[in-house]
Amino acid sequence: MKDKIVIVGAGVAGVNAATKLVDNGYPGELITIIDMGKSPYERKPEEVMTGFLGAGGWSDGKLTYHTAIGGHLSKYCGEEKAMELMDQVITNFKRFHPKPEEVQCSNPESEPDFIKPYFGLRLFPVWHVGTDYLFHIACNWYEYLLSKNVNFLWEHKVTDINFETGEVILED
Ligand SMILES: Cc1cc2nc3c(=O)[nH]c(=O)nc-3n(C[C@H](O)[C@H](O)[C@H](O)COP(=O)(O)OP(=O)(O)OC[C@H]3O[C@@H](n4cnc5c(N)ncnc54)[C@H](O)[C@@H]3O)c2cc1C
Repeated sequence: MKDKIVIVGAGVAGVNAATKLVDNGYPGELITIIDMGKSPYERKPEEVMTGFLGAGGWSDGKLTYHTAIGGHLSKYCGEEKAMELMDQVITNFKRFHPKPEEVQCSNPESEPDFIKPYFGLRLFPVWHVGTDYLFHIACNWYEYLLSKNVNFLWEHKVTDINFETGEVILED
């Protein structure tokens, strides 16, 4: 028998984890995503940190394509694997995009040497998904997960997890 899975947070990480599971045939009905924010249909523009696609999928539609920024993924799985996982996230953004052909990657040339000591600029490749499309991507993605019977519990905050019993504790 397969285990029940609870994912805390419907941000980019949680949504991609659930997508990977159902894409690989894991039964969606055994997956529950709990988020203190709202579904893409109800999420307000000012709710920048909570709800479907979290902060990263609901801001300005740029995905920084480098492991030196935004977290510690490569520390846990190595540089090559981290870039492979990042590619999978970008593929998913294109997959649920209404116009995937418009998604582009910019790869700026490194800054001139005379600027480096003064500004500390760091230039990275960036995928441009398009701010105006984020809502549509989120809705398409959400519908896909719903069609796979993934459960969502909105506007519930997780306050603790008992890993011995598998109990997830929610705020009253
Ligand atoms: C304003 C802003 C703009 C950004 N812009 C970019 C950008 O353009 N490009 C880029 O590459 N990165 C950007 N980032 C960084 C990017 O947002 C993060 O790297 C990314 O969101 C991390 O994804 P995540 O799923 O780990 O977390 P999040 O996206 O933060 O998602 C976490 C989710 O968990 C939920 N949650 C948290 N705690 C609980 C709890 N206790 N109970 C229930 N639910 C909970 C939240 O509601 C949220 O939906 C930006 C960040 C911010 C804040």
